[in-house]
Amino acid sequence: MRDNYLFHGVKGMRDVFPEESWKIRQLEEKARALFACYGFGEIRTPLVEHTILFERGVGQGTDIVNKEMFYVPAKEQDGEDDKRNRQMVLRPEATASVVRAYVEHEIAKVSPGCQRYYYIGSMFRYERPQRGRYRQFAQIGIEVLGATQPSMDAEVILLLHDLLAQYGLTSLTFQLNAVGCLICRPPYIRKLQEFARTLQTKLCPDCQIRIEKNPLRLFDCKQPECRKLISQAPVLPDFLCSDCRSHQKAVFQVLEKNNIRFEVEPRLMRGLDYYTRTVFEVISKDLGAQNAVAAGGRYDNLVADLDGPQTPAIGWSLGVERLMELLLDTVWEPTGLDALVVAPGPEFETTFVHVTDMRRQGLRIGMEHEARSVKALLKRADRLHARFALFVSAADPEKLEVKNMQSGEQVALTWDQLKTHISTFSQQKCIGAAKQ
Ligand code: ATP
Ligand code: MG
Repeated sequence: MRDNYLFHGVKGMRDVFPEESWKIRQLEEKARALFACYGFGEIRTPLVEHTILFERGVGQGTDIVNKEMFYVPAKEQDGEDDKRNRQMVLRPEATASVVRAYVEHEIAKVSPGCQRYYYIGSMFRYERPQRGRYRQFAQIGIEVLGATQPSMDAEVILLLHDLLAQYGLTSLTFQLNAVGCLICRPPYIRKLQEFARTLQTKLCPDCQIRIEKNPLRLFDCKQPECRKLISQAPVLPDFLCSDCRSHQKAVFQVLEKNNIRFEVEPRLMRGLDYYTRTVFEVISKDLGAQNAVAAGGRYDNLVADLDGPQTPAIGWSLGVERLMELLLDTVWEPTGLDALVVAPGPEFETTFVHVTDMRRQGLRIGMEHEARSVKALLKRADRLHARFALFVSAADPEKLEVKNMQSGEQVALTWDQLKTHISTFSQQKCIGAAKQ
């Protein structure tokens, strides 16, 4: 490794090479296909937003806003005071951005009714990098705006369940809780404060501030002593108003009817302020300390808080890096080359023309420009997940030996015959291939 910092990536950010990226693409494509089945359309919002969006959306007392913001000083602000340099951030999450876009473009007016959006993209949080925790990470997520019914909570949880099941993850734990609304939460918060004040000096300095500033965040503290003390605190589900109680009951009923197994976790609060009623997390015992792979909940007041019309909403987000970690032992469907060809001698020129022709027909053909031994070619074809290895005859470049990499079977063919031969085996074509 060279000393110069220019040759190091930024701390907490990863490079992804083709050996890994094709797997991530498969995950994304599976998600896109399932989202389409559930009637979701993709929303793409910018990576940079005004800081105030998250201060007001995610909440002033949250870790994301207090500790994890990735500020983007704009160039013309260089040398100006710190406050101006903190006006923009790389997005730490997408919900606030989606709501901002929904309000800004007056979607409620332009296109009344429930909106179903999904997104796939990078988020940025200035956290201490460790296993499962990066400063740039990707999320696959959904947001449904304009639906108040408990059956919608159940539907989005079901969608998350089915997506994870498509990835082969069927034994994850779904934890659910109800965090109340503007009617039942304030009296609960007062009870929680009363309880926490009795512990004041026994709690860590951060928690002592939380008691007055944002008491619900007391449940987020990772200090073992605080966790022990807070485990005795009153819990929100005991304080729900009758509307929240019947909402929760209805969500559970629909999930049970659809055979979705879940646990009720009365201390699950989630680290963001905007949640109301249903919240949930999907956790795995195989992820170490960072055990949540996905999380979400209802946020019935966020649109109004960001100056939009009162619009109930719900969403979730799935961490791609943690998902990849859960899939380490997965056998992936190879989506490599249809064929890898070697033509090291004078046959190269003619071969090149045939290869171009096949690529234009949408076939995936790798071509080696340097001489290779048969053994080296086969090894490389294997590594690139090629279905066939092609050896062009030096004496007659129209003739080929075609080896099926799976069965080991070898046949002699012409280029014309090769196209039909490959097509009968290969199911996938390059996206955007020229029409024949
Ligand atoms: P955690 O408790 O792990 O900090 P969180 O509550 O901050 O998670 P959310 O904001 O709900 O996480 O994001 C949803 C998902 O995004 C998480 O369940 C996780 O899989 C992923 N995620 C969040 N922060 C990071 C990070 N810094 N690096 C990698 N993945 C992350
Ligand atoms: Mg976090």
